Amino acid sequence: MTTLTVKTNRREEMIDITSMIANEVSQSGIQSGIAFCFIPHTTAAITINENADPDVKRDLLFKLNKEIPKNDGYHHAEGNSDSHLKSSLFGFSEQILIENGQLVLGTWQGIYFCEFDGPRNRKLIVKVFAVG
Ligand code: ZN
Repeated sequence: MTTLTVKTNRREEMIDITSMIANEVSQSGIQSGIAFCFIPHTTAAITINENADPDVKRDLLFKLNKEIPKNDGYHHAEGNSDSHLKSSLFGFSEQILIENGQLVLGTWQGIYFCEFDGPRNRKLIVKVFAVG
């Protein structure tokens, strides 16, 4: 298991971490298996989505903020209930298959670290398993 650091720069941000995870796969030497990625935070998440047009990231965050506003009569005293909601919606883990030492992703897919209460230094846990 490896714990990587992701430095975020804004309150809300989607950072392409595909190359970080591909690097872990490469260092493991595993040719066939699974890369399990976990976010040990309550106001950040991980997702897979398009990595070609940057407007997709923009639109995801735009719509998310429209549906889950920062202030909406929440009770949580820390004032970041929107961040907790967004994180649970996106989720805290992804599993990506590995074949021939490469991540199995669609042509337009990238893996994103989703910051919902930054900027902060965040952790990303990756474990690469050999399977089959
Ligand atoms: Zn909180």
